[in-house]
Amino acid sequence: MQGSCLCRSVTFRVSIDALKIYQCFCSLCQKQSGTASNLATIVADSAFEFLSGEEQITTWVKDTGFTSHFCKKCGSPVPNRLRDKPYYWVPVGAFDGDIKGEVSSHIYTASKPDICLSDQVEQFPEFPDGGIDSHIRKISG
Ligand SMILES: [Zn+2]
Ligand SMILES: [Zn+2]
Repeated sequence: MQGSCLCRSVTFRVSIDALKIYQCFCSLCQKQSGTASNLATIVADSAFEFLSGEEQITTWVKDTGFTSHFCKKCGSPVPNRLRDKPYYWVPVGAFDGDIKGEVSSHIYTASKPDICLSDQVEQFPEFPDGGIDSHIRKISG
């Protein structure tokens, strides 16, 4: 499976058959992803390789040691090696094409926002009919 950042400067390959994915609702992941949770996986470093763009990756380190790695051109979170272990953290949204694997755990659910995704809401396989103006009318406060 291969992946890339939004501007495709940073590209990578993961050589495993199926991902075990976790969904984290902690406050750090919410800030870092800009959304309600982070969907990520961890792979052995022997199964991970950057194909391009490592020089485009920059980091921000919180005083606790939490580190965010992102593309300095487009701002997307990108894979990074765990500080003291032989593994890479990989954000699932960075994968291109079909993802093989499944979500195996939800963590920090105590921080999960009340407005979580529900099967009870309207669903659209692609952008809703009516275009952007219709969507804005429906969603804006
Ligand atoms: Zn980028
Ligand atoms: Zn988290």
